[in-house]
Amino acid sequence: MEYFRLRGTGVSPGIAIGEVRLTEKIVFSARKDTIEADQVAEELERLEAAIGRTRSQLVQIKEKIGKKLGEDHSFIFESHLLILEDKSLTQSLKKKIEEDLFRSEWAITQVHGRYMEIFDSISDEYFKQRKYDVSDVLSRLYLNLQPTEAPKKEDGKNRILVAHDLLPSEAASRLSRGNVLAVALDVGGTTSHTAILARSLDIPAVMGLRDITQSVKDGDTLIVDGAVGEVIINPPLAIRREFIGKKKKYDDYRRELQKTAALEARTLDGIRFTPMANIELPEEVKVAQLMGAEGIGLFRSEFIYFQSPELPEEEDHFRIYSQLAQQTAPMPVYIRTIDIGGEKTLPQLNIEKEPNPALGLRAIRFSLRDREIFRTQLRAILRASVSKNVSILIPMITELEEVYEVKTILREVQGELRQERVAFDEDIPLGVMIEVPAAAAITDKIVREVDYISIGTNDLIQYYLAVDRSNELVSYLFKPLHPSVLRLLKFIIDSAKKADKEVTVCGEMAADPLSAIVLLGLGLKNFSMNPIFIPRIKRVLRSIEYGTARKIVHRALTLKTAQEIEEHILEKILVKHPTALLMGGEYPSG
Ligand code: PEP
Ligand code: MG
Repeated sequence: MEYFRLRGTGVSPGIAIGEVRLTEKIVFSARKDTIEADQVAEELERLEAAIGRTRSQLVQIKEKIGKKLGEDHSFIFESHLLILEDKSLTQSLKKKIEEDLFRSEWAITQVHGRYMEIFDSISDEYFKQRKYDVSDVLSRLYLNLQPTEAPKKEDGKNRILVAHDLLPSEAASRLSRGNVLAVALDVGGTTSHTAILARSLDIPAVMGLRDITQSVKDGDTLIVDGAVGEVIINPPLAIRREFIGKKKKYDDYRRELQKTAALEARTLDGIRFTPMANIELPEEVKVAQLMGAEGIGLFRSEFIYFQSPELPEEEDHFRIYSQLAQQTAPMPVYIRTIDIGGEKTLPQLNIEKEPNPALGLRAIRFSLRDREIFRTQLRAILRASVSKNVSILIPMITELEEVYEVKTILREVQGELRQERVAFDEDIPLGVMIEVPAAAAITDKIVREVDYISIGTNDLIQYYLAVDRSNELVSYLFKPLHPSVLRLLKFIIDSAKKADKEVTVCGEMAADPLSAIVLLGLGLKNFSMNPIFIPRIKRVLRSIEYGTARKIVHRALTLKTAQEIEEHILEKILVKHPTALLMGGEYPSG
């Protein structure tokens, strides 16, 4: 048994040691298969029957998973049902049968290929991942063309699932049985449903391993390190021992973090702060709560547009928002209207290719151009607001005129709903993201027009320092502690405080321990971040006094460089609270 190691992307942290259980790949037809013209009706019936079988399976699994794991996971199947009901999808399948005289298998293969091409042309990694949902539904449909299912091999006890790809529906049913130790896949990435599911079930997972299915067989021994993204095949005894030690260390660390999640979010001198979560899927609410989130500080609603190749309807939005609001209640949920355009372009949206996408028709700029899409989203958010914990958040505001326009549209939509006697929260808060420097510089004016503000430091720093947030070549310049950034943040936070309005930071800066201390010192109380970082930020902020953070910032604002500021914080913290920054790292490594 050969020993070797493979590197992929760690998508769900944790270490597992166990035996391989290899899963076969679903293969679509490779052969063009046609029918005669007089067989069209019969073939359409065959397709309809398969659609019917697929529908009832999805409904069944949805109910089963809903009971077992809660509604947030059964949601995957809700979206699969939507894909299955999608008119453009079924029509293209039928057209291939009626006009091209393709047998259903070949029609599905062709349509599947076309959809994969479309999704592959999208540059945003998160959206790209939605192709697996379409693939999942089409694979199920394909298998259902044969009325009887082939018998499946049992997973066995405590195995590590190895597959080319684990379709979201397969993942949900197999991972929920409680007998899977870890997952290792050839393809996939952090934002796939399977990855999200693995994280929320606390199952270590590594994806993007390219050819692990070619390299292992049933019964091989595997170590999966989900934090590092490594898979070790047939490890010798010494390595096994090393990883047993690492696993224990990691498990202890997780237990520690979990304890932090349950503790009150207060500084040493008793000042309350509120850690919240940034999420993209309703399924993530549970993990967020587990990590100690006191609300969803940012719901990136863009993902709804990737559930189906057609534009989502009001009901699609509504279903998701009300699920989100109900699950989070009584804690708050800030639903951000779509931040689409720029790089996150989509085939169903009418956006031209732009020479400079980051400075182009993004977010609210797009919403104010395609107003029907915006109104649909606002109607759905308003309808979901009956639980009284929903706020509307508008991204990428540049000038006050945009705020005025948004308010006019919101008033119109509210008027429509009143006329239709549809209930909504009459006091729903409206807030804007401060992430364009021009808006930041007039925060004192903007804040008077809205109920709260949320600082998107990812974009704010990108635009203020002229550093592309995703360009590795200039990432060394992306400095949240740059003196200019601190001055700007001080102005924004002070402006909100003077106007007695809530202010949150929802960029990654809130998840960085040193920056979080600075933000606290600037007077910030609401920190929203990727849920996985909440325990460490809670730990850091619980270990210092608000008064100390204020003093640190007072001095930091007089310093000249990010490095001087960083050194100053470290010096002060380490002298006064030598353990505050311990365990600040995401996971222990080695
Ligand atoms: C930000 O810009 O900081 C932010 C939270 O929004 P996004 O990362 O979605 O652009
Ligand atoms: Mg942003």
